[in-house]
Amino acid sequence: MGILVVGSVALDSVETPFGVGENVLGGSATYFATSASYFTDVSLVAVVGEDFPEEHISFLKSRNIDLRGLTRTPGKTFAWKGRYGFDLNEAQTLETRLNVFETFKPTIPTEYADADFLFLANIDPDLQMDVVRQVKRPRIIASDTMNYWISSKPESLKKVIGEVDILIINDAEARQLSQEPNLVKSARKILSLGVKTLIVKRGEYGVLMFTDSTIFAAPAYPLEKVFDPTGAGDTFAGGFMGYLANTGNVSEAGIRQAIIFGSVMASFNVEEFSLDRLRHLSYREIEDRYRSFKAMTHFEGLSESA
Ligand code: AMP
Repeated sequence: MGILVVGSVALDSVETPFGVGENVLGGSATYFATSASYFTDVSLVAVVGEDFPEEHISFLKSRNIDLRGLTRTPGKTFAWKGRYGFDLNEAQTLETRLNVFETFKPTIPTEYADADFLFLANIDPDLQMDVVRQVKRPRIIASDTMNYWISSKPESLKKVIGEVDILIINDAEARQLSQEPNLVKSARKILSLGVKTLIVKRGEYGVLMFTDSTIFAAPAYPLEKVFDPTGAGDTFAGGFMGYLANTGNVSEAGIRQAIIFGSVMASFNVEEFSLDRLRHLSYREIEDRYRSFKAMTHFEGLSESA
């Protein structure tokens, strides 16, 4: 079972306390697709401009990502400029240039329209809705967004949220979207928009999953080396959806395992700049870190007499 992802493919300029990168490969769909490609077949729909380097296309192809839905149009590639301070949990956006995304209308190739798993990565919610209209009902639709769209297009965004099964956002976005500071109350409000599962990413503090009747909490992997948190959220979503699509098990137990695979992928991605860590990652390393997660979070239950 493969995944269709629609989102941004970008040239990022990023500054962290440990270094700077100018016009490096980025974008929500790029991180997602690369991460998911470790688990399943991925097809990507996005647009780039004339300036997008051929070497990035070769890299995505080397991950076996189906790029028939990636169009190149006259103009410049979407460009995002951001900075992180010593608190690596929060990116400060310095500049967002939509460029070729300003006129982009995603067209889903007919051969992708019956995808079982669809991920609406962070793009304009109106474009996300366009995509939902073009696909036959997938088994699972998941989506992401960010503060930029919550403040500029809240109504469009709420409509998309009503159409998806799983929403994956960070804690600040959850609070902003629900206008509610308490995260548990915030989750209740967001679930009332019609989404069945809400996954709230909390940077180095891990992930919380909410459904109507359950809460699941996973820590982030404690790392000594965090170099560039850009794309951690999309890499999480890629590992999460990739594992779900690989097993086809969308029960709560399957979703919990997928959350750990997502956390594993995000933990690798932040170790190096841009997507560099994902360029030399093996499946063996992914499994080893999954096992470390299991060991790290294990604790005994209460004894019968307690
Ligand atoms: P993350 O750190 O997982 O939230 O994702 C970072 C990626 O999102 C960067 O590579 C950016 O290119 C991309 N990005 C930033 N702002 C936007 C936006 N407004 N729309 C779509 N993608 C964006």
